[in-house]
Amino acid sequence: MTGKTVVVALGGNAILRNQEVGTAEEQIANVRRASRQLAEIASDGYAVVVTHGNGPQVGDILLRNELTEDTLPSMPLDICGAESQGMIGYMLQQSMQEALLAAGLDCPVATVLTQTLVDGDDPAFGDPTKPIGPFYTAMQAKRLQEEKGWQMVQIRGQGYRRVVPSPRPIALIEGQAILGLIRAGVVVIAAGGGGVPVVADTGGTLRGVEAVVDKDYTAALLARLVGAGDLLILTDVEHVALNYGRPGRQDIREMTVAEAREHLAAGHFPPGSMGPKIRAAVGFLEDGGDRATIASLDSAADALAGRAGTRIRR
Ligand code: ADP
Ligand code: MG
Repeated sequence: MTGKTVVVALGGNAILRNQEVGTAEEQIANVRRASRQLAEIASDGYAVVVTHGNGPQVGDILLRNELTEDTLPSMPLDICGAESQGMIGYMLQQSMQEALLAAGLDCPVATVLTQTLVDGDDPAFGDPTKPIGPFYTAMQAKRLQEEKGWQMVQIRGQGYRRVVPSPRPIALIEGQAILGLIRAGVVVIAAGGGGVPVVADTGGTLRGVEAVVDKDYTAALLARLVGAGDLLILTDVEHVALNYGRPGRQDIREMTVAEAREHLAAGHFPPGSMGPKIRAAVGFLEDGGDRATIASLDSAADALAGRAGTRIRR
């Protein structure tokens, strides 16, 4: 790819914030905020490829499924993931188009509903770790375990949640379509929620699986696919920190891959939140990426320019 390309990964919480109920208006307002940042980055001369989380949205879709179970057939997790890519993609397409026009950039925006190939033999399938959907009481959890064969975990002080496997992404099925659009100057939104995880049978037929691919790992894969120099992971903290949530917290402005690995090994970046971001950043840099940056949504453009957030270098 010619020129500067950045893959921007928006956290699921950036679009539906924790303290909000999740009305359409709230989500659209948040997406507009994100789009203004993305348009500023495009104004700085970057080709922008966007991906996003879907945790809160798919949680709502799953709950809606459950509440209407007696009237309508519920949909499996892969179809719920596809639904979330559609709704978030729609909101982003509309608001990004508007923000780009306001910045004087008249480029088309399109969402590619993306399937992510995973390995059916990935060890993750034997050890589900990713919590999804609503919280349940101990009694509900027991019933769901028996009736649906779900694996449940207890989350301290909050009840029980379903857990599904989180396999590593191998390839994006729509990779060539995404590349074609980028080459044609389209701002692409792809692989939302990490993409819908699919496995291929021996004949090559694809089948959706009940799993969730971490969106940070898929973002790194997308960045390699499009030959991006920058991977920008936006979340709800200003900096990656040492001793996060503990006494002696220390924000990190810059670190090398070697330092990131040391801090990972020392347990500073837990699995399920900061861990995947750091691992995704390290993998991207080791595969030839130039810069990986982790920052808050509102300082996205500054972070990409090296004025905010946490920068990780080779
Ligand atoms: P996203 O939806 O953006 O992926 P996550 O909740 O998965 O959000 O990850 C971001 C969260 O990681 C932050 O809100 C913060 O609470 C948590 N976190 C854990 N360890 C760290 C750390 N060392 N530095 C900064 N944030 C951390
Ligand atoms: Mg996350």
